[in-house]
Amino acid sequence: MEAENNGKTSAAYPMNSGDGPYSYANNSISLGVVIDHIREIMIKDISEKLEITPSKPFWIADLGCSIGPNTFSAVKNLIDSVEFKYQSSQETTTTTQSELPQFQVFFNDHTSNDFNMLFKSLPGDRRYYAAGVPGSFYGRIFPDASLHLVHCSFSLHWLSQVPKELRDKSSPAWNKGRVHYSNSGDEVIKAYKAQYEKDMALFLKARAQEIVCGGLMVLISLGIPSGVHHSEAGGNRGFDLVGSCLKEMVEKGIVSEEKFDSFNIPTYLMTPQELETAVKENGSFAIERLEVLPHVKVNGVALNSHQVTFCVRSTLGELIKEHFGEETIDQLFDLYFQKVEEIHPSSIAEAVKTLSFLAVLKRKPIKH
Ligand code: SAH
Repeated sequence: MEAENNGKTSAAYPMNSGDGPYSYANNSISLGVVIDHIREIMIKDISEKLEITPSKPFWIADLGCSIGPNTFSAVKNLIDSVEFKYQSSQETTTTTQSELPQFQVFFNDHTSNDFNMLFKSLPGDRRYYAAGVPGSFYGRIFPDASLHLVHCSFSLHWLSQVPKELRDKSSPAWNKGRVHYSNSGDEVIKAYKAQYEKDMALFLKARAQEIVCGGLMVLISLGIPSGVHHSEAGGNRGFDLVGSCLKEMVEKGIVSEEKFDSFNIPTYLMTPQELETAVKENGSFAIERLEVLPHVKVNGVALNSHQVTFCVRSTLGELIKEHFGEETIDQLFDLYFQKVEEIHPSSIAEAVKTLSFLAVLKRKPIKH
């Protein structure tokens, strides 16, 4: 048996902790509206496609949960969906209320995630037992065939690491003067894509072992439409702008060139087709749904420059602090705010040529 991976399978880049102005908890609402938006789809798919007889307890995992509040909304939607399924089947069978499953929910993230904050803010009215599971989801984190339902939102664009070639000065993929792949040459893009493929294969292999046959996995991911060049994707622009700010700070002598050149952001936006290919290569899951989600704005209003800046800071803050030091961060994001104002926040927030998509995968029966 492969044991729990102790978080060593990949480097950790947790979101900003706590509940302050730059925390993920206070800056993730634009992703939360997507989770709310798919509630009805989740109820439909789980009631129609989950193929498990009610067992006690029913095991649910949210992978890459961060610190809320999105994970709590997602878990509530999952539980409502499973209860709806079993309650509706009561009408046709003799299942009684007492036979409804008890829920055990596992919140997973990197070991360095702020689990204290997560547990402190657990909803008081929850109808489940809660536990934290530390470790990278690119390795094994649960026993064989133990999970009934898995959820993972806005986490799979995080790679397990910056591709090795990017750290090698003699490699054609040495990413001098840039912090991300989207505006870089083909060698860099190829290295990121290869890392994504390796990581996704590991993710699916581990989940195929952990999810029971007939169990479901709901994935919500950021991505790009197929045929769009990575440099055109609005979702990448926010990160390119971090690169422009750092470059300016190098020119002013605030950040060393060496530090700048050795910094790369380990995220990759996949196309829905890339996910489909990975699932087919893995072979253990049937694709029950794969669809692009509509862009939804918080209260119908686009994010302003402050919100865009806080959002990027809540996501990249820890990574930047670790590489450049705590003292750089305020200056960097003051500059970032100015630049967002100049180019207009909509060019980042409107997510041109960027998409969110939903995949519902069912663990196939094991062939003997
Ligand atoms: N699911 C939440 C949080 C998304 S932020 C939401 O929808 O709002 C992405 C989260 O994924 C971060 O908390 C990050 O630490 C986590 N993450 C990234 N790579 C991971 C990995 N390999 N294993 C576990 N968690 C990971």
